[in-house]
Amino acid sequence: MRTFDHIDVYSIAEACTTLREYQGRARLNAGGSDLLTVLKGDFLADYPEAVINLKTISGMDYIREDGEYLRIGTLTRLTDLVSSPLLKEKYPVLSEAAYTVATPQIRNVATLGGNLCQDTRCWYYRYPRSIGGPVQCLRKGSGPCLAIKGDNRYHAIMGGKKCFAVCPSDMAVALAALDGKVIIVGPEGERRVEVTDFYHPTGNELAKDEVVREIEIPIKRTPTQQSFRKFTLRKPIDFAIVSSATVITVAQGICTDARIVLGAVAPAPVRAKAAEELLIGKPITEETDTAAAEKALVGAKPLSKNEYKIQIAKTLVKQAILGVTD
Ligand SMILES: Cc1cc2nc3c(=O)[nH]c(=O)nc-3n(C[C@H](O)[C@H](O)[C@H](O)COP(=O)(O)OP(=O)(O)OC[C@H]3O[C@@H](n4cnc5c(N)ncnc54)[C@H](O)[C@@H]3O)c2cc1C
Ligand code: SF4
Repeated sequence: MRTFDHIDVYSIAEACTTLREYQGRARLNAGGSDLLTVLKGDFLADYPEAVINLKTISGMDYIREDGEYLRIGTLTRLTDLVSSPLLKEKYPVLSEAAYTVATPQIRNVATLGGNLCQDTRCWYYRYPRSIGGPVQCLRKGSGPCLAIKGDNRYHAIMGGKKCFAVCPSDMAVALAALDGKVIIVGPEGERRVEVTDFYHPTGNELAKDEVVREIEIPIKRTPTQQSFRKFTLRKPIDFAIVSSATVITVAQGICTDARIVLGAVAPAPVRAKAAEELLIGKPITEETDTAAAEKALVGAKPLSKNEYKIQIAKTLVKQAILGVTD
């Protein structure tokens, strides 16, 4: 690892000011479970001059309802999302998703904000300097996307434009199914962004001097059935090949509301709106379930080596919906 300034900050405002002072040459550090790997791999186009430690900010780890919204502070650890009685009871899709992330040791340090903002896992992008990297590519600002003609078995099957890396965050998928908003703070104030809009083809919505402060989720007044499914190659610990989060309301046998989100298929979590529309107003049966799963993947355009993801995605959506009972 190279040397850098290490700066403790004590408020979000101070984090923003410090980011602005460094003009893009500083990185935020929360749990460090991704950032330190990135710095050790030394594959970034620009190595940061400073690392800004967010963990010295107090009061940013909370999970609470305030009447209209569930609010989760950016420094809340994934371990706390897994064990929260409130989430287990009313937002199980979040605790289920958190439980599938990495290992207990990593979840003990990894934060929700860090999970949402973690860097891409594309293996061309992450090719370490110690074994011949860094590899340049479009996401790093120079050259083409190497995955298009290369080994793209883990890359996007929809929504890829310039970069075909998928969003690696499992929490983003679950949060999108709950209509979550990312609350971003910068020197000019605060703004809210839908989780699905937080991700861009080559990065995320954050400007160089902005910080994620909180996640806001509207509280549903009617009971919902929630599910998070994830297909991985290595069962005990792995990133998703495909994931699916569903939040469905059924009243008297009829689906009255549905949010179906696919993960690891695109640069952002993808809402399967056509599948949602198909289900609403109908009973959940084998027939409607199969039709919804087919609809969820309409428009998928696989690359040369990842067509297999389509069938996995259909199966996950089917399983998640079929788990719903009145
Ligand atoms: C072995 C292994 C397996 C993994 N498996 C999975 C998995 O299955 N699913 C999954 O979703 N993830 C997985 N991960 C990724 C893991 O979830 C992330 O490393 C972790 O959540 C990052 O959180 P952190 O607090 O440690 O972030 P850090 O490493 O501190 O930061 C990560 C990035 O987010 C930025 N950041 C952090 N906080 C903020 C903030 N408040 N505002 C703006 N930017 C911020 C940092 O600048 C940095 O760029 C795995 C990681 C490892 C090492
Ligand atoms: S998918 Fe994105 S990160 Fe990977 S090589 Fe292509 S441009 Fe780079």
